[in-house]
Amino acid sequence: MTSLAQTPSAVCELCGRDKPLTFHHLIPRAMHRKPRFRKHYDKQELRTRGIDICGLCHRGIHDLLSEKELAAEYNTTELLLAHEGLRRHIGWVRKQK
Ligand SMILES: [Zn+2]
Ligand SMILES: [Zn+2]
Repeated sequence: MTSLAQTPSAVCELCGRDKPLTFHHLIPRAMHRKPRFRKHYDKQELRTRGIDICGLCHRGIHDLLSEKELAAEYNTTELLLAHEGLRRHIGWVRKQK
């Protein structure tokens, strides 16, 4: 393996499907200006903290959770996966082509 690809995995980090990926900010961009988040994370971290996921998983996240909830309570992959509705959604996504 000599690949120096920028994204180590080409599959969705949630459902594992080999699909075009989109970047989900674990702390939504709209929150980056809030003092509460600026205090806890530096700018670079706010910008780069995220996961590469497929469109279906991404849509599910934003259907189920508001940006406020995402930033405050679901700002890691583990926390997202602890959300029951989202786990169910990912289970459904896994069965799609
Ligand atoms: Zn996915
Ligand atoms: Zn997103």
